Amino acid sequence: MAGTNDDKFVLAPAPRAAVPVQGGGWFPVRRIFCVARNYEAHAREMGADPSREAPFFFTKPADAVLPVGSGETGRLVYPLATQDLHHEIELVVALAAGGENLTAEQARACIWGYAVGLDMTRRDLQAEAKAKGRPWDSAKAFDDAAPVSALRHMPGVELSRGDIRLDVNGELRQRGDLGDMIWSVAEVIAYFSRYFRLQAGDLIFTGTPEGVGPVRVGDQLRGAVEGVGTLALEVVARPQQ
Ligand code: MN
Repeated sequence: MAGTNDDKFVLAPAPRAAVPVQGGGWFPVRRIFCVARNYEAHAREMGADPSREAPFFFTKPADAVLPVGSGETGRLVYPLATQDLHHEIELVVALAAGGENLTAEQARACIWGYAVGLDMTRRDLQAEAKAKGRPWDSAKAFDDAAPVSALRHMPGVELSRGDIRLDVNGELRQRGDLGDMIWSVAEVIAYFSRYFRLQAGDLIFTGTPEGVGPVRVGDQLRGAVEGVGTLALEVVARPQQ
């Protein structure tokens, strides 16, 4: 483990990924886990069978986080290598603790709090990956692919209902209710813990409701989750190189 050998690194270590906390402070991000197709209507719009099959997942690197403080508007530079960048508004769970093979009750006790997140997706690259049976990393794990609002500290609280929505340029694009999630917050945490040793600092994106679609340079995004907060983001052009 690093920590005591800072003066021995041959390069300056990258700064630690973190997201702001409502009321002050920063939450250090360890890993980012994401659930796919956790709302039936979204599963259908992606051409999938919304039956209650086992959930599946993907990850993003911790430094894909684009932290956006309360009252701020984040700036998302339109990413490389896509002509079809999509928004997916999601409830994000932050963990204060972890473990392996957690029960739902143990999983609930690991909850530190919640944020509003966007699982930004290069949909054209995802379609290509699906068609060729390849991994989704190029579609999901790019730089700044995970804008996240300030976290609200809600230790041990499992959110099971509440409005989740995304407006683009003042127009409603996505709307759902947390109660529509196929797998509850505690079930999602417990599920990941069957495959990974979860730890404090992990973030989990819990899936998006229906209405995903493309964003363009100049778009103003405003996401909100009832009882958690809001996330404001502007899509800006990539600087000429
Ligand atoms: Mn998603």
